[in-house]
Amino acid sequence: MVEIKVLTDILGRNEAQAAENRKRCDAAGVACVNIMGSPGAGKTALLEGVLRAGNAPRIGVLEGDVSTTADAERLAALGAPVVQINTDRFGGACHLSAAMVGAALPSLPLADLDLVVVENIGNLICPCEFDLGEHRRVVVASVAEGAEKPLKYPLMFRKADLVVVNKVDLGASAADAAEMCDNVLRVNPAATVLPASARTGEGLDSWTEWLRTLGSGRK
Ligand code: MG
Ligand code: ZN
Repeated sequence: MVEIKVLTDILGRNEAQAAENRKRCDAAGVACVNIMGSPGAGKTALLEGVLRAGNAPRIGVLEGDVSTTADAERLAALGAPVVQINTDRFGGACHLSAAMVGAALPSLPLADLDLVVVENIGNLICPCEFDLGEHRRVVVASVAEGAEKPLKYPLMFRKADLVVVNKVDLGASAADAAEMCDNVLRVNPAATVLPASARTGEGLDSWTEWLRTLGSGRK
């Protein structure tokens, strides 16, 4: 009973802070995207692809990692304003919370941005249980993880607006990528599924366009 009450309080407080974050982004005319997925799925690489595109939206990044600023440095090198959130300072949390995002948002130049992209901690389980104040949720899943992963970790995929199936060039056969896309749709028929490869550039135009459309017309 006591434990349930504590959990309710934590999630309730997260919801309230998430609403604050969303309000702050709305007031600045900025869309917020929460990108989730396993470590190594290609979240940072796909953002690099967007930042290199000629028609990229103006993106500010909140970079979540347990430790290091390695990914933040990759994105900052391409000109994006980036704020690092290292969760080892918060006890090594395996997900980002709305409070962490709320604390980092004022460090981004929201007036000059179309989008705030939050790259969540690499983890296929609990990040999807925490609303950060985002407008859309993206899951990046790579073919190299195994085509069955959407079936084994359905909650993450069920809550996604867009699922980018990355590394389609790495499958043992083209059937692996197709099977993974099918499995995403089995757990979430409403999801938009985008086969892509950050390495070969396949799907990057559509990925950039999806973000550009989301961020446009809010100012
Ligand atoms: Mg990364
Ligand atoms: Zn967690």
